[in-house]
Amino acid sequence: MTTHNSERVSVSLGGCDPATLAREFGTPLVVIDEMCLRSRMRRFREAFIRPGWASSVTYAGKALLLAAIARIAHEEGLAVDVCSLGELRTAALGGVPADRCIVHGCFKTPDELEAAVKASVRHVVVDHAAEIDDLDRLARANGVTCDVLLRVNPSITAYTHELVQTSAPASKFGFAISDGQALAAVRKVSAKKNLHLSGIHCHLGSQIYDLRSYARAVDSLVDFAKAAFDDSGAAFSIVDVGGGLAAGDGADSDDPTPEAWASAIFDAFERRLAGTPLQRPHVYVEPGRALIAQAGTTLYRIGVRKRLPDGAQALIVDGGMSDNPRPALYEARYSVCIADRPDARPDGSYVIFGRHCETDRLFPDAALPDPQPGDLLVVRDTGAYTYSMASNYNRFVRPAVVIVDNGRARLAAARETLDRVLALDVTESPT
Ligand code: PLP
Repeated sequence: MTTHNSERVSVSLGGCDPATLAREFGTPLVVIDEMCLRSRMRRFREAFIRPGWASSVTYAGKALLLAAIARIAHEEGLAVDVCSLGELRTAALGGVPADRCIVHGCFKTPDELEAAVKASVRHVVVDHAAEIDDLDRLARANGVTCDVLLRVNPSITAYTHELVQTSAPASKFGFAISDGQALAAVRKVSAKKNLHLSGIHCHLGSQIYDLRSYARAVDSLVDFAKAAFDDSGAAFSIVDVGGGLAAGDGADSDDPTPEAWASAIFDAFERRLAGTPLQRPHVYVEPGRALIAQAGTTLYRIGVRKRLPDGAQALIVDGGMSDNPRPALYEARYSVCIADRPDARPDGSYVIFGRHCETDRLFPDAALPDPQPGDLLVVRDTGAYTYSMASNYNRFVRPAVVIVDNGRARLAAARETLDRVLALDVTESPT
C-alpha cells in the first residue's frame, strides 16, 4: 500500500513508515501486515463454507510459524499443520490447543511421534508403513487412541517447479496408490487397536496455478476411498486435499482465488461421488503460502551500487539467500520498490544481489528510480518460506520479524544475535 501526502508518495506497511521500522528494528526486516493476514484467513474460511458440506481450513505452518502467527491462525478459526517438534512446540507457545494441530512429516523422529501422541493432537498424518507400528505402540504405551490420516500418493504431476511437486510418481511422500501400498496401509491401520483411521490426505505440491490439478486429485482420492471401501469396508470421514495454491511470485493478477479453489474442489467431489455408496467427507484443505505470502514484506538497505563488466547495473543489499532462499532454489520472482519513492519513474533496470559468497541474485531485473546506497528496498509478498527457511550461511544472523497493524509494530521474532550463533561453537581443543 502507498500513502500520499502533500510532499511525496511513500510506502506504508500496516500504517507504519518503513524507514521508522528499519530504524527501530534494523534491516533486513520481515514485516507482517496483521490485517492482511487475518483477512486472507477469513476469506479462505468463508470460501470453503458450502451448504451441505463440512469443511476445515488448516494453516500450513511451514510457510511461517512463530508463536504470534500460530495465535492469529487459531484466533481466525484455522487448525495448524505442523511438521516437526519445533513447529508443534511453537503452535503450543502461540496458544493453539493440540487438538487443533495436525502432524505431518515424511520421517517423524521417535521424539516427534511421542510428543504428538502425548499431546493428543487432532491427527497424525501417517507417511510410511513402519510409522503405523511405531504410532500404535506409542499410543498403547500411553493408553490413548491416536487419530490418523493416511497420506497417499496418487501419482499426479502438478504443473509446478519439479522441486515442489509432492505427489508425482517420483515423490518420497505417502503411500503409493498405484501398486497397492495405500490399500495395504488402510488394512494395516484399521487392524491396530490404538489407532483410529479418520481419512486420507494428499498434497500435490506448491505454487499450483492450474486448478484442474486439484480436480484430478479429488478424483483419485474418491476413487481410492471407493476402492478401500470395497476392499475392507473402510469408510473415510475426512478427505484432506492439501495446500499448494499459488500466491505471489510477482504475478499477482494470475493468482487463483480461494473461491475458485473451493469451487474446483467441491465440484470435483460432487461429480466423482455421484453414483458411489460413499458419504460426503469432511473436506480439509491446508494452504500455507496463499495465506501468508501477501501479508509479508521484507525491507533491505541497499549498500552498494556498481556497474558490472557486462554493463548491468547492480545493487547489493544487506541480506540475501540466508533470509530468502527462494530465488536461488526456485527462481522465485518478487516485485520491489524504493520505500520513499515507490511510484517514481524508473531510470533503468537493476540486478539486485544479496551479500553472500555466492552469486546470490535475489531480484534479476528490478526497474527502479536511480537507487542509491542507503535507500530502503521494499520487497513484496515475502511472508511465505523466507524467514521459515532462513539460515546462518556466512554466519549471518536471522532477521527480526515484526507484525504491524493500525500504525503499531510489535516484535514477533527478535533479530538473532551473533553471540547466540557463536555460542553453539565448541572451542575447547581436543585432548
Ligand atoms: N501441506 C503439506 C503436507 C505440505 O507439505 C505443504 C508444503 O510443503 C503445504 C501443505 C503447504 O503448501 P503451500 O504453502 O504451498 O500452500
